[in-house]
Amino acid sequence: MLREICDVFKEAYRRGWITTRDGNASYRRPDQDFFYVTPSGVRKNEMIPDMCIKLDIDQMGWSRDRWLANDEGMLKQTLNRGLKPTGELPMHWALQRDLSLTEHSRVVLHLHPTHVIAATRYLLEKIGVATHEGEAERRAECIMALARDFPEIFRYTRVGQIVEYVEPISQALADAVETAMLVNGGPKLVCDVIAMDRHGAVSVGSDPWEAFEHIERLNHVCEIFLLSR
Ligand SMILES: [Zn+2]
Repeated sequence: MLREICDVFKEAYRRGWITTRDGNASYRRPDQDFFYVTPSGVRKNEMIPDMCIKLDIDQMGWSRDRWLANDEGMLKQTLNRGLKPTGELPMHWALQRDLSLTEHSRVVLHLHPTHVIAATRYLLEKIGVATHEGEAERRAECIMALARDFPEIFRYTRVGQIVEYVEPISQALADAVETAMLVNGGPKLVCDVIAMDRHGAVSVGSDPWEAFEHIERLNHVCEIFLLSR
Protein backbone atom coordinates (compact mmCIF):
# COMPACT_ATOMS: atom_id res chain seq x y z
CA MET A 1 0.00 0.00 0.00
CA LEU A 2 2.84 2.45 0.81
CA ARG A 3 4.43 1.55 -2.53
CA GLU A 4 1.15 2.45 -4.28
CA ILE A 5 1.02 5.76 -2.42
CA CYS A 6 4.49 6.55 -3.81
CA ASP A 7 3.28 5.59 -7.31
CA VAL A 8 0.24 7.87 -6.94
CA PHE A 9 2.50 10.82 -6.10
CA LYS A 10 4.69 10.15 -9.13
CA GLU A 11 1.57 10.20 -11.32
CA ALA A 12 0.18 13.33 -9.63
CA TYR A 13 3.52 15.07 -10.21
CA ARG A 14 3.58 13.92 -13.85
CA ARG A 15 0.13 15.47 -14.35
CA GLY A 16 1.11 18.76 -12.74
CA TRP A 17 -1.28 18.29 -9.81
CA ILE A 18 1.54 18.97 -7.32
CA THR A 19 4.85 20.75 -7.49
CA THR A 20 7.78 18.67 -6.31
CA ARG A 21 7.31 18.82 -2.55
CA ASP A 22 3.50 19.30 -2.40
CA GLY A 23 0.73 16.95 -1.39
CA ASN A 24 0.41 14.39 1.37
CA ALA A 25 -1.35 11.14 2.18
CA SER A 26 -2.10 8.73 5.00
CA TYR A 27 -3.01 5.06 5.20
CA ARG A 28 -4.66 2.98 7.92
CA ARG A 29 -6.18 -0.47 8.25
CA PRO A 30 -9.26 -0.46 10.52
CA ASP A 31 -7.88 -3.21 12.78
CA GLN A 32 -4.66 -1.28 13.44
CA ASP A 33 -4.10 1.32 16.18
CA PHE A 34 -1.52 3.11 14.07
CA PHE A 35 -1.45 4.81 10.69
CA TYR A 36 1.15 5.97 8.19
CA VAL A 37 1.59 9.49 6.85
CA THR A 38 3.87 10.86 4.17
CA PRO A 39 6.84 12.93 5.37
CA SER A 40 7.09 16.70 5.26
CA GLY A 41 9.19 18.49 2.67
CA VAL A 42 10.52 15.55 0.62
CA ARG A 43 10.44 15.41 -3.17
CA LYS A 44 7.20 13.47 -3.65
CA ASN A 45 8.22 12.29 -7.12
CA GLU A 46 11.21 10.53 -5.51
CA MET A 47 9.49 9.33 -2.31
CA ILE A 48 9.99 5.68 -1.29
CA PRO A 49 7.82 3.62 1.12
CA ASP A 50 10.18 3.60 4.10
CA MET A 51 10.12 7.42 4.18
CA CYS A 52 6.48 7.14 5.37
CA ILE A 53 6.06 7.70 9.11
CA LYS A 54 4.13 5.45 11.48
CA LEU A 55 2.02 7.21 14.13
CA ASP A 56 -0.11 5.94 17.00
CA ILE A 57 -3.78 6.70 16.44
CA ASP A 58 -4.41 7.44 20.14
CA GLN A 59 -1.33 9.64 20.58
CA MET A 60 -1.67 12.14 17.79
CA GLY A 61 1.71 13.66 17.11
CA TRP A 62 3.66 10.89 18.84
CA SER A 63 5.53 8.54 16.60
CA ARG A 64 5.80 4.95 17.69
CA ASP A 65 9.02 4.90 15.72
CA ARG A 66 10.46 7.70 17.84
CA TRP A 67 9.64 5.78 21.03
CA LEU A 68 11.48 2.81 19.62
CA ALA A 69 14.36 5.07 18.77
CA ASN A 70 14.53 6.17 22.41
CA ASP A 71 14.13 2.72 23.95
CA GLU A 72 15.87 0.42 21.55
CA GLY A 73 18.49 2.37 19.69
CA MET A 74 18.39 4.19 16.39
CA LEU A 75 17.03 1.50 14.08
CA LYS A 76 13.62 3.05 13.33
CA GLN A 77 15.00 6.56 13.35
CA THR A 78 17.44 5.50 10.67
CA LEU A 79 14.66 3.89 8.65
CA ASN A 80 12.70 7.15 8.74
CA ARG A 81 15.84 9.19 7.99
CA GLY A 82 14.88 11.70 10.71
CA LEU A 83 11.90 12.83 8.60
CA LYS A 84 8.94 14.61 10.14
CA PRO A 85 5.25 13.90 9.39
CA THR A 86 3.41 16.11 6.90
CA GLY A 87 2.34 19.52 8.21
CA GLU A 88 -1.24 18.50 7.36
CA LEU A 89 -1.09 15.77 10.03
CA PRO A 90 -4.11 17.22 11.97
CA MET A 91 -6.26 16.79 8.84
CA HIS A 92 -5.13 13.17 8.33
CA TRP A 93 -5.62 12.34 11.97
CA ALA A 94 -9.16 13.82 11.90
CA LEU A 95 -10.08 11.56 8.96
CA GLN A 96 -8.25 8.44 10.21
CA ARG A 97 -8.92 8.37 13.95
CA ASP A 98 -12.27 6.52 13.83
CA LEU A 99 -12.69 3.69 11.31
CA SER A 100 -15.12 1.76 13.52
CA LEU A 101 -17.84 1.47 10.86
CA THR A 102 -15.63 0.26 8.04
CA GLU A 103 -13.90 -2.99 7.24
CA HIS A 104 -11.86 -1.34 4.52
CA SER A 105 -8.48 0.29 4.73
CA ARG A 106 -8.57 4.06 4.40
CA VAL A 107 -6.30 6.24 2.32
CA VAL A 108 -6.58 10.02 2.65
CA LEU A 109 -5.00 11.87 -0.26
CA HIS A 110 -4.38 15.60 -0.62
CA LEU A 111 -3.23 17.11 -3.94
CA HIS A 112 -3.38 20.49 -5.72
CA PRO A 113 -5.21 19.58 -8.97
CA THR A 114 -5.12 22.63 -11.24
CA HIS A 115 -8.60 22.51 -12.77
CA VAL A 116 -10.33 21.80 -9.45
CA ILE A 117 -8.69 24.89 -7.95
CA ALA A 118 -9.46 27.05 -11.02
CA ALA A 119 -13.12 25.93 -11.27
CA THR A 120 -13.67 26.40 -7.54
CA ARG A 121 -12.26 29.93 -7.71
CA TYR A 122 -14.37 30.75 -10.79
CA LEU A 123 -17.60 29.46 -9.21
CA LEU A 124 -17.04 31.26 -5.90
CA GLU A 125 -16.17 34.56 -7.60
CA LYS A 126 -19.29 34.29 -9.74
CA ILE A 127 -21.54 33.83 -6.70
CA GLY A 128 -19.74 36.58 -4.78
CA VAL A 129 -19.51 37.25 -1.07
CA ALA A 130 -22.36 35.65 0.85
CA THR A 131 -24.61 38.23 2.50
CA HIS A 132 -27.35 35.82 3.55
CA GLU A 133 -27.69 32.15 4.35
CA GLY A 134 -28.97 31.15 0.90
CA GLU A 135 -25.84 32.53 -0.75
CA ALA A 136 -23.56 30.82 1.78
CA GLU A 137 -25.27 27.54 0.93
CA ARG A 138 -24.90 28.20 -2.81
CA ARG A 139 -21.18 28.88 -2.33
CA ALA A 140 -20.70 25.68 -0.33
CA GLU A 141 -22.64 23.55 -2.79
CA CYS A 142 -21.71 25.02 -6.19
CA ILE A 143 -19.19 22.27 -7.01
CA MET A 144 -21.73 19.63 -5.95
CA ALA A 145 -24.16 21.18 -8.43
CA LEU A 146 -21.49 21.00 -11.15
CA ALA A 147 -20.82 17.33 -10.39
CA ARG A 148 -24.53 16.54 -10.60
CA ASP A 149 -24.42 17.52 -14.31
CA PHE A 150 -21.86 14.82 -15.17
CA PRO A 151 -22.75 11.11 -14.79
CA GLU A 152 -19.09 10.16 -15.24
CA ILE A 153 -18.48 11.55 -11.78
CA PHE A 154 -21.76 11.29 -9.81
CA ARG A 155 -22.13 7.57 -10.55
CA TYR A 156 -18.84 6.76 -8.83
CA THR A 157 -17.78 9.66 -6.65
CA ARG A 158 -19.66 11.70 -4.02
CA VAL A 159 -18.52 15.31 -4.17
CA GLY A 160 -18.84 17.30 -0.93
CA GLN A 161 -19.17 20.96 -0.04
CA ILE A 162 -16.43 23.43 -0.84
CA VAL A 163 -14.16 24.32 2.05
CA GLU A 164 -13.76 28.11 2.03
CA TYR A 165 -10.17 29.41 2.20
CA VAL A 166 -8.38 28.47 5.42
CA GLU A 167 -4.65 28.78 6.10
CA PRO A 168 -2.93 25.52 5.01
CA ILE A 169 -1.20 23.38 7.64
CA SER A 170 -3.52 24.51 10.43
CA GLN A 171 -5.93 22.98 12.91
CA ALA A 172 -8.60 25.27 11.42
CA LEU A 173 -8.17 23.56 8.04
CA ALA A 174 -8.36 20.12 9.68
CA ASP A 175 -11.59 21.16 11.44
CA ALA A 176 -13.12 22.51 8.22
CA VAL A 177 -12.24 19.35 6.26
CA GLU A 178 -13.61 17.16 9.05
CA THR A 179 -16.90 19.12 9.01
CA ALA A 180 -17.15 18.77 5.22
CA MET A 181 -16.28 15.06 5.03
CA LEU A 182 -17.49 13.33 8.20
CA VAL A 183 -20.99 12.91 9.62
CA ASN A 184 -20.83 14.72 13.00
CA GLY A 185 -17.10 13.96 13.32
CA GLY A 186 -17.89 10.22 13.44
CA PRO A 187 -16.61 7.35 11.31
CA LYS A 188 -19.12 7.83 8.50
CA LEU A 189 -18.15 9.76 5.37
CA VAL A 190 -20.60 12.12 3.70
CA CYS A 191 -18.53 12.31 0.52
CA ASP A 192 -15.44 10.94 -1.23
CA VAL A 193 -13.80 14.18 -2.32
CA ILE A 194 -13.89 17.89 -1.49
CA ALA A 195 -12.40 21.01 -3.04
CA MET A 196 -10.65 23.64 -0.91
CA ASP A 197 -10.70 27.22 -2.19
CA ARG A 198 -7.26 28.38 -3.51
CA HIS A 199 -5.65 25.20 -2.24
CA GLY A 200 -6.66 21.83 -3.69
CA ALA A 201 -8.61 18.67 -3.03
CA VAL A 202 -8.85 15.96 -0.38
CA SER A 203 -10.18 12.50 -1.14
CA VAL A 204 -10.73 9.26 0.73
CA GLY A 205 -10.54 5.78 -0.76
CA SER A 206 -10.00 2.20 0.34
CA ASP A 207 -6.69 2.18 -1.54
CA PRO A 208 -4.38 4.85 -3.01
CA TRP A 209 -5.63 4.54 -6.58
CA GLU A 210 -9.28 4.75 -5.54
CA ALA A 211 -8.50 7.99 -3.68
CA PHE A 212 -6.60 9.21 -6.76
CA GLU A 213 -9.54 8.38 -9.08
CA HIS A 214 -11.97 10.49 -7.01
CA ILE A 215 -9.70 13.50 -7.54
CA GLU A 216 -9.13 12.55 -11.19
CA ARG A 217 -12.88 12.48 -11.92
CA LEU A 218 -13.48 15.82 -10.20
CA ASN A 219 -10.54 17.39 -12.02
CA HIS A 220 -11.81 16.06 -15.36
CA VAL A 221 -15.31 17.58 -15.06
CA CYS A 222 -13.79 20.83 -13.76
CA GLU A 223 -11.58 20.97 -16.87
CA ILE A 224 -14.57 20.36 -19.16
CA PHE A 225 -16.58 23.01 -17.30
CA LEU A 226 -13.78 25.59 -17.65
CA LEU A 227 -13.32 24.83 -21.37
CA SER A 228 -17.04 25.34 -21.91
CA ARG A 229 -17.00 28.90 -20.49
ZN1 LIG B 1 -1.84 21.51 0.17
